[in-house]
Amino acid sequence: MPEGDTVWNTARVLHRALAGARLTGSDFRVPQLATTDLTGWTVRESASRGKHLLLRLADPGERSGPEHWTLHSHLRMDGAWRAYAPEERWTARPAHLIRVVLRSAGAVAVGYHLHELTLVPTAEEESLVGHLGPDLLGPDWDPAEAVRRLAAHPDVTIGEALLDQRNLAGVGNLYKCELLFLRGISPWTPVGAVRDLAGTVALAQRLLAANRGRWTQSTTGSLLRGRTSYVYGRRAQPCRRCGTAIRKEELGERVTYWCPRCQPERS
Ligand SMILES: [Zn+2]
Repeated sequence: MPEGDTVWNTARVLHRALAGARLTGSDFRVPQLATTDLTGWTVRESASRGKHLLLRLADPGERSGPEHWTLHSHLRMDGAWRAYAPEERWTARPAHLIRVVLRSAGAVAVGYHLHELTLVPTAEEESLVGHLGPDLLGPDWDPAEAVRRLAAHPDVTIGEALLDQRNLAGVGNLYKCELLFLRGISPWTPVGAVRDLAGTVALAQRLLAANRGRWTQSTTGSLLRGRTSYVYGRRAQPCRRCGTAIRKEELGERVTYWCPRCQPERS
């Protein structure tokens, strides 16, 4: 599931493959960029902001207008970028899911099922990511600001508030479920009734940070298949702590998993 850590990892892969490179070709397979050709452009860097990917480029300067541009993409539930060696076959996903191909002398980056693919002047990046709360894995991570933003809407359930990227950027459904289990908080608890928001936010950051640099997302410390989560994806299976059957229900637009005994609803 692409959450903040996955996007951070993806940004690093793209950075290693392309940073500093001059593009020898590009192939956009989305209508809004179908006529865009980035041949000759230089990749400056690849960065993530919450669940948004920002590939920063420099125009060789043959056109009028800004020199620095950002190719923005969002992975949502199913998007991915892969970097291949120039002669390597593109095997990660079916070809019909390809949205963009960027080639350099040393690598080919292929974007699959990307969302919100747009090219904007880097100076206007904020129009795409400016609404986001503090980035859990960003260099400017600001836990106090995240707590302040969460607390500003005390009646929203904590399960929904943690997914709202305007509060803090990077938590997806997996980390939300796991975090609330680890803190013993029912997903239906109003934010205003959560006793230690700062502790909850701090643990969210540690969970994501622990999974940087690897693709298996684990909140249990185990990387063994079937053992990487406490509640997420474990409907009807016994809670690892108390043995109660894990439950799954809709909360807002997403499903949530929780242990009714370890995460009681307080009245
Ligand atoms: Zn339990």
